[in-house]
Amino acid sequence: VRYDVTLTHIQNPAFQGVLLCFTDVTHLRTADQMRRDFVANVSHELRSPLTAILGFIETLQGPARDDSAARDRFLSTMAAEAERMNRLVGDLLSLSRVEEEARRRPASQEDMDKLIRSVIGNLQTLADENGGTIAYEPAKSPIMLRADPDQMRQVFSNLIENALKYGENGTDVHISVRNIPRDSSLKGPAVAFDISDNGPGIDPIHIPRLTERFYRIDSHRSREKGGTGLGLAIVKHILNRHRGRLVIKSTQGQGSIFSAVLLRD
Ligand code: ADP
Repeated sequence: VRYDVTLTHIQNPAFQGVLLCFTDVTHLRTADQMRRDFVANVSHELRSPLTAILGFIETLQGPARDDSAARDRFLSTMAAEAERMNRLVGDLLSLSRVEEEARRRPASQEDMDKLIRSVIGNLQTLADENGGTIAYEPAKSPIMLRADPDQMRQVFSNLIENALKYGENGTDVHISVRNIPRDSSLKGPAVAFDISDNGPGIDPIHIPRLTERFYRIDSHRSREKGGTGLGLAIVKHILNRHRGRLVIKSTQGQGSIFSAVLLRD
């Protein structure tokens, strides 16, 4: 707990003394510290690809000027680094947009089945490339929920992509829909979209921190897989805006279940 303390001398005929005033500024300090950490993290994340690109430019202008094989190799590495910066900026923009809209509830009723199918269609190539599979078990009857379609697509996309990405030799991803008569946290009837994988699983100590911005279990592996460290933070904010929450369950060595739980209207 942090306090700001002010000291005032009181001198009048009735009373002489000092007045100490303690103001609890824990909230302000924490918010301030978080903002500073965030800016430091963003700068660091942008600087490393930028430094690599600048280094390659220097080499191409100097020692590797006439080496066409090296030039091709360096150019493709530079393209990959630029792509990484592009992804990061894209995720930062998504995050700030979601935060901006946090108080505005989405207006349109969306068919969740349609959204999930379109996301699976987009990720099929990634699954094939990784030697993984995506299986989907839709709900018996259509589920219409008040949702922002682009944002909900992003939720499913981030969760399914993570499930595919973090498995060693191809992951089998299973998506199913579950009715919750009454969700104790959301305080009402809800529906859960469970995205399960048979990947490496997650050590329980990491689970509460996974939705923090830039929190990764293995930074090297996340970067290698094209991760920005913002995916689950975006998911959490979108679900909050939709009166929902993210529930993570995992068993090391067996796999994980990421559940997007949404309140029914
Ligand atoms: P990233 O861009 O690094 O994927 P995320 O916010 O999406 O960032 O995820 C944070 C971290 O959570 C990842 O770096 C990874 O270590 C871990 N993670 C997320 N999903 C899974 C999963 N399905 N299986 C194992 N680890 C996961």
